[in-house]
Amino acid sequence: MRPIRLLSLLLAALLLTGCAKTSPAAGDEADASPAEAVFFAMDTVMSLTVYGEESLLDDAQTRVSELECLLSVTDEGSEIYALNHAGSAALSADTAELLARSLELCARTEGALDISVYPVVRAWGFTTGEYAVPTRETLDGLLSHVDHNEVSVETESGRAALEPGMEIDLGSVAKGYTGDRLIDLLRSSGVSSALVNLGGNVQALGAKPDGTPWRIAVQDPFGEGYLGVLEVTDQAVITSGGYERYFEEDGQIYWHIIDPASGRPAQTGLVSVTVVGDCGLTCDGLSTALFVMGRERAEELWRGSNDFEMILVEEDGSVILTQGLEGCFSALGDYGEGLEVICRD
Ligand code: AMP
Ligand code: MG
Repeated sequence: MRPIRLLSLLLAALLLTGCAKTSPAAGDEADASPAEAVFFAMDTVMSLTVYGEESLLDDAQTRVSELECLLSVTDEGSEIYALNHAGSAALSADTAELLARSLELCARTEGALDISVYPVVRAWGFTTGEYAVPTRETLDGLLSHVDHNEVSVETESGRAALEPGMEIDLGSVAKGYTGDRLIDLLRSSGVSSALVNLGGNVQALGAKPDGTPWRIAVQDPFGEGYLGVLEVTDQAVITSGGYERYFEEDGQIYWHIIDPASGRPAQTGLVSVTVVGDCGLTCDGLSTALFVMGRERAEELWRGSNDFEMILVEEDGSVILTQGLEGCFSALGDYGEGLEVICRD
């Protein structure tokens, strides 16, 4: 992601979360100012806003570092690196749980999310920044080893294995899982109001101390501003967009979300997908998957589910909102005009 974009994501979260007036009637926390930390991890800028013990910020950062060390696909000491290079590995409880739950999301999205697409992502240069358009032959060779059904993990023992030639990457889900773990950590330490922003993946614990919902800005996929604002309590708001990481060659834009069916950047007419729900991991996996699936299949999945709502932005700038977000989303600028709400029946 470009530094300017990261900075604006961060500012959005800080500005929007800082604009509430507190009400003493809502309890002790309403009077307190939040403890805040901004740091770089998992290749992005993260910010934590916690109403409670300041020392919890250190615990939270330690937890992020711990997970990054386990899950990084490039760090030679990580469990994912070990699995990719040895073909099998004994995983910690965190990695095994995340891997197992990611595979469930791969199956649920019929392979639109596929954690084994990593060698294809790498061939496009998205892991190194050395961008290149791979030949069809190269892609076909790599795709012959892409199949999430060939990844096995036993959560009890932590044993995981891949078929020869396969490599996995949990980059599409790791920040959602990390957000869930941070929310757990804060809640179990007695915090009832916090906001975790992991590079634009935002997760709210409770409401603001005055009892009003957190206000989360959703990035405008066409510029540096915002599409709108979501008001949420106890929910994750996670966006996947082509604008987050891409390169241009011969006038063509190639972004980092790959359709595992073709091995090429997903071109379904969507430019961003925001998923809102209780579980950060689910929202993170689904935001990537729905981007690959496109509007029609995304709608179909939403109709058959009850654990998420979504905002889709199409390449012509129109915005599609699912019913459950109608009362908590305010579009900004022109985005209010073409807004379409889809209902369950
Ligand atoms: P996110 O920002 O959560 O949408 O994740 C995007 C990242 O996941 C990319 O930068 C790739 O590393 C990886 N990725 C791209 N396409 C897929 C896919 N179809 N399934 C799983 N991971 C993917
Ligand atoms: Mg994701």
